[in-house]
Amino acid sequence: MNQAVHFLGLTPDELTSIVREMGAPEYRGRQLFEWLHGRRARSFDELTNLPRPLRAALAERGQIATLAVESRYVSEDGTRRYLLKTHDNLPVETVFIPEERRDTICFSSQSGCPLQCDFCLTAKLGLLRTLTAGEIVEQIVVALNDAYGVGAETPRGTNLVAMGAGEPFLAFDSLTKALRLMAEPKGLHIVPNRVTVSTAGVVPRIRELAHISERPHLAISLAAPNDELRDKLMPINKKWPLAELLAACKDFEHSLKPGERFTFEYVMLDGVNDTDDHARQLANLLNRHQLRAKVNLIPHNPADPLPYRPSPPERVERFKAILEAKGVQSFVRRPRGRDIYAACGQLAARRELNPSGATVPR
Ligand code: SAH
Repeated sequence: MNQAVHFLGLTPDELTSIVREMGAPEYRGRQLFEWLHGRRARSFDELTNLPRPLRAALAERGQIATLAVESRYVSEDGTRRYLLKTHDNLPVETVFIPEERRDTICFSSQSGCPLQCDFCLTAKLGLLRTLTAGEIVEQIVVALNDAYGVGAETPRGTNLVAMGAGEPFLAFDSLTKALRLMAEPKGLHIVPNRVTVSTAGVVPRIRELAHISERPHLAISLAAPNDELRDKLMPINKKWPLAELLAACKDFEHSLKPGERFTFEYVMLDGVNDTDDHARQLANLLNRHQLRAKVNLIPHNPADPLPYRPSPPERVERFKAILEAKGVQSFVRRPRGRDIYAACGQLAARRELNPSGATVPR
């Protein structure tokens, strides 16, 4: 651990031992946790019931806020995208998606991404750095404070998806610690049952996740129904091909609760992976493994350097109908925030403006 501590990434126990070292009683550690997570405080000045000398000692030791909001873009559909900067000046993007019943926050696990999925704009950045647990939690704090005000109640509750930049299973330690922190009843109190983690298919971690008792839901990005095509679209397939991936899914299935299913995401690329034949192959593949899964069809979100177009809506519907006819339940995901580069696969620290996307540094 370096000199400057990021307090937002520490558990109540870790905070307690820090305040104890500073000569303060243990309950101050729990108070500190409640301020940072429960009330989403952003500065030491806000911690009004902590003694001034303790606040000063903490400020000397580390920071509460490390992510600076560089830009904030608002879509015509209400989705907000935050372009944040880490202390070492790397981009982190977070998306707040208001929905009728419950809001969803899509967070990033890495700055950039090392996987080279051919249809994803984030891939063009390469991996810049894996984020810390504190940096993951802080994205949620920033988004909630912006949506509802610092520390205010979140009226509709919040779902989280690890579907921003990066591969969450390559940030496994940060991710699992962040999930534990966020689940704390005195903190954000977003329990793992409200969280979905999406992976490109890091097989050993799928198995590892199954053994975590309070674990998030799992989504797996498939994008192709056979190895030949998946090797091209998602090079991670060369390391863990479909047979291994689906075997891991089969093992994971033992950890599903009654009624719980996992999700396969399938980005629909015009003329590439969206034919009737692909739909039949996909249904047969899933049926062969008898998986308790559903398929989310995601129309491709285009971006300049990407050599793909979204499948037309009729194609998506036809694909879905073929899956359903073969007993595979599927849903079409409505893209959100495309106009501000906030949709799946579009996070690559874009700065350009658009009609509704005023930037408001905060
Ligand atoms: N690395 C993780 C999580 C980030 S991607 C993963 O691969 O699952 C989140 C989802 O967006 C994945 O299902 C991915 O396949 C999809 N996606 C990537 N680029 C996209 C694009 N341009 N249009 C639509 N979906 C895309």
